[in-house]
Amino acid sequence: MSSNVNMEKIVSLCKRRGFVFPSSEIYGGLASCWDYGPMGVELKRNIKDAWWRTMVQERDDVVGLETSIMMHPKVWEASGHIDSFTDPLVECKSCYLRWKATEIGNNKCPKCGGELTEPRMFNLMFKTFMGPVEDEADTIYLRPETAQGMFVNFENAVTISRKKLPLGIAQIGKSFRNEITPGNFIFRTREFEHMELEYFVKPDEDKHWFDYWVGERFNWYTNLGIRKENLRLRQHGKGELAHYAKDCYDVEYLFPMGWSELEGIANRGDYDLTQHTKFSGRDLSYYDNESGQRYIPYIIEPSAGVERSSLAFLIDAYQEEVVEGETRVVLRLHPSLAPIKIAVLPLSRNEKLTPLAKEIYKQLRPSFMTWYDDSQSIGRRYRRQDEIGTPFCVTVDFESLEDRQVTIRDRDSLAQIRVPIEELDKTLRAKLSGESFEASPLWATREK
Ligand code: ATP
Repeated sequence: MSSNVNMEKIVSLCKRRGFVFPSSEIYGGLASCWDYGPMGVELKRNIKDAWWRTMVQERDDVVGLETSIMMHPKVWEASGHIDSFTDPLVECKSCYLRWKATEIGNNKCPKCGGELTEPRMFNLMFKTFMGPVEDEADTIYLRPETAQGMFVNFENAVTISRKKLPLGIAQIGKSFRNEITPGNFIFRTREFEHMELEYFVKPDEDKHWFDYWVGERFNWYTNLGIRKENLRLRQHGKGELAHYAKDCYDVEYLFPMGWSELEGIANRGDYDLTQHTKFSGRDLSYYDNESGQRYIPYIIEPSAGVERSSLAFLIDAYQEEVVEGETRVVLRLHPSLAPIKIAVLPLSRNEKLTPLAKEIYKQLRPSFMTWYDDSQSIGRRYRRQDEIGTPFCVTVDFESLEDRQVTIRDRDSLAQIRVPIEELDKTLRAKLSGESFEASPLWATREK
């Protein structure tokens, strides 16, 4: 976390610059529900793409899947969610506020000091009815995790992929949890997107793969720019483990409210496939034709949230710095996560500059998420791009009309170089893929 960031600043920037808006705002909002604006959707999409690239595209042992949010009710009996996906709920006898007992740690209401009721277990799954008749037979649940979709499709994935174990199935999709205490902006909400991998392994190889995935997932965040000092691993204590887990590590990030879970990596043992075999009557064991053994695979599960990652990436990237006596806010997002990669900015709105600037904008758009802006002063436009984390601005000025060259301005160093328009695509591609931005001594100037 940067030293000068707090949650208020992030919430305000997210609203001001179109990352996140309160849901149903014109009706006063709906608690813990958020809408993602033009910058927010791009950031989320980029995070999901980065995850998919690492977890699926660049591997030969993982296949993708997209399963239904609504599943057969028996799935949730087999998984243990109907009995065990609960939190202890207490209610204040004075102000009637409800709390998760494990989060408040003492027996007085944190809001008014009032006496609390005894805890009762509250199931976090959202219930709804399928079809027009609201009777018990039609009760179904919105999934609280995508994982079960992968477990019940294990057989399909093995058959279709024609791969051997270890084999992973990856899914990104919405999950719903009727959290007792949502909050901290988009950190904990009742609707969110999961990015989950279920990695099926030979039982005696579980420890190896568990350690492997803990390392891989930690590195995924640092490779995308999260500072190592803001990230740590925490192993769950025995009493803390979920009913299905043999072992679990959380990747924790130093959020403004303190160290909190960003992702969980669990060794689920053979619990899931054993349960689904029992409840469905379908044998989900795996025949390993190399060893001639039949067994129920163990599952290693790295499970992350898109919104919670978005929040961590935003917080880690946020910086305020003084440049020539003025404070600028800059999001130093990794280029692959930045919502907009390039902003094309004519020096001013001018009938001579506009056609060339528009021509450049059209030239770049098919390759990069590009933004065109010709309103207000160039300084204010740079600041706007800094605040949304745009790595490069391309400025078109009157000299460009003569020499067909434009200025590229680097978000982080503020260095500027001039390049021929024909080389713009190539130069920007190299810079966005990580080539360090060294301003040519001939052209380097601090912006005015
Ligand atoms: P927590 O202890 O914070 O409630 P959890 O341990 O129940 O989380 P998991 O079931 O392990 O969470 O889910 C994996 C990831 O999914 C979490 O690390 C988080 O990134 C995300 N996630 C879980 N619940 C929520 C939620 N209510 N809102 C936003 N993201 C969530």
